[in-house]
Amino acid sequence: MCTIKFLVTPQATSIRPSHADLDVAVIGGGILGVSIALRVSTTTASVGLFEADADLAAGASKGNAGVATSYFAPPGTREASYVTTSSPRWEDICGRLAVAFRRCGALVVAFTGEEVEALRGDLELARRAGARAELVDGARARALEPLLSDRVVGALHLPDEGVIDSIGLVFATAELAALNGAKIHRDACVIGLEAQADGTTSVVTTRGVWRARFVVNAAGLGVGEVNRLAGGEPIHVTPRRGQYWVLDRAWEGRAMSTIVVPAVGPGPGTRGPQVVPTISGSILLGPTVDDVDDPGDTSTDEQRLSYAWEACSATIPDVVRGVRIKAFAANRVAIGDESAHLRRDALVPNLFLAANRAIGVSCSPAMAEEMLELLRGSGLDAPDRPDASDRLPGRALDDRDDVVCTCQGVTAGAIEESLGGEVAASSVAGVRKRTRAMTGRCQGADCFDEVCRRIAGHLECSLEDVLFAGVGTEIGMRRE
Ligand SMILES: Cc1cc2nc3c(=O)[nH]c(=O)nc-3n(C[C@H](O)[C@H](O)[C@H](O)COP(=O)(O)OP(=O)(O)OC[C@H]3O[C@@H](n4cnc5c(N)ncnc54)[C@H](O)[C@@H]3O)c2cc1C
Repeated sequence: MCTIKFLVTPQATSIRPSHADLDVAVIGGGILGVSIALRVSTTTASVGLFEADADLAAGASKGNAGVATSYFAPPGTREASYVTTSSPRWEDICGRLAVAFRRCGALVVAFTGEEVEALRGDLELARRAGARAELVDGARARALEPLLSDRVVGALHLPDEGVIDSIGLVFATAELAALNGAKIHRDACVIGLEAQADGTTSVVTTRGVWRARFVVNAAGLGVGEVNRLAGGEPIHVTPRRGQYWVLDRAWEGRAMSTIVVPAVGPGPGTRGPQVVPTISGSILLGPTVDDVDDPGDTSTDEQRLSYAWEACSATIPDVVRGVRIKAFAANRVAIGDESAHLRRDALVPNLFLAANRAIGVSCSPAMAEEMLELLRGSGLDAPDRPDASDRLPGRALDDRDDVVCTCQGVTAGAIEESLGGEVAASSVAGVRKRTRAMTGRCQGADCFDEVCRRIAGHLECSLEDVLFAGVGTEIGMRRE
């Protein structure tokens, strides 16, 4: 998150917009921000997106499990409606955006008869919420997921759960929004929001000032600060840490097919850490759930990771044979009890909030749609127009001839593609996010040099000037 270098209060009067007017300014380049920008960009409205970090997907959107859930909350809740509206759309959305998605199903597993009885209640709720669900015995559960523990006596089977390349989704969504005409500004931290007499807002960023009719606050852990800058409702955000193990995708030849979640977690009414067969083939074990103080602190700790390891090896005993290649943590945005928040601000009429603690990826299509309805209901007169998806580049991932990252099978073509387009990578971290190069077993030991050389070649800069992430992170590598 950016450091607010100076504060511009709503009362300040000296801000002069240095850029053309926007209908909608979206703050935050995570999955919610880009999804909203994309939806607005398929109307006649002008939209600009402002991201504080050097690249998109800097917050929770780069640290989640990529589960596109089909059931999360009881019927009648806002979350249930977002999930059931979004879930059937994933094949279409990911097909159009060339983002990897697999509907792999999930098993919520029980180890005792008592836990099975409790799952009957979940079955009823899941069905009433609109999800397909069935209760299966241990043998049927093991037929669905052969690596499941012999100790599992029953499970709730949710066949429509899926896994998605959630970081790829952010970039492909932003790419299409940009092709539609949205302006995507990175390294553009919003440091002030000033209400103007004509009802517009001056959006003051570290890259200049824009004037917008509507402002959407999708700043993740920064939503409280952005609302404060705008003079909006106070929002208290608690960062909720989730930690994961990543197991190598080469798992002694054994492949998991289904997401597996213990029915009973550490606290009342909670589930335990999941085992997730990700779209890249690696396996995620986690997450843990702990409230923390510092939103920017994504450190991991051995004790909580051990807990995740043990809980996951109880459901899938074979995980102990897997190679742990990495642990990581990301912080969810906890605001009150609900996961999803989408509303017009009670104090600032042209300010809107979009936030999601636990299922933001899964809800993003429906939340983007509802945000557009809200904006239209508040005076945005912008009919739909066709999008530019026919101009989206294809993915060059299956050219096997020139593999640069052997662990993840990332080709030179895929790296080259990541360095082009409307929302191009310009750093090692940017290439890594878009292609998954350097995220496998060797964590870049074998391919880091080659990736840097290709970035230098593409950008026509010297090798030592290649950036690891943002400004000031030159890798300083010299050519031999
Ligand atoms: C451990 C973990 C596991 C999860 N697993 C899943 C899952 O499997 N499935 C699922 O559906 N969801 C999952 N989630 C939830 C999901 O990741 C989030 O709901 C979603 O990513 C939130 O997206 P966002 O765009 O609101 O926020 P973010 O991705 O956090 O993006 C907010 C952006 O705003 C930027 N920003 C902040 N302040 C400013 C400012 N002043 N100016 C400009 N930019 C600013 C930040 O840099 C950041 O890039 C998980 C979350 C975590 C943490």
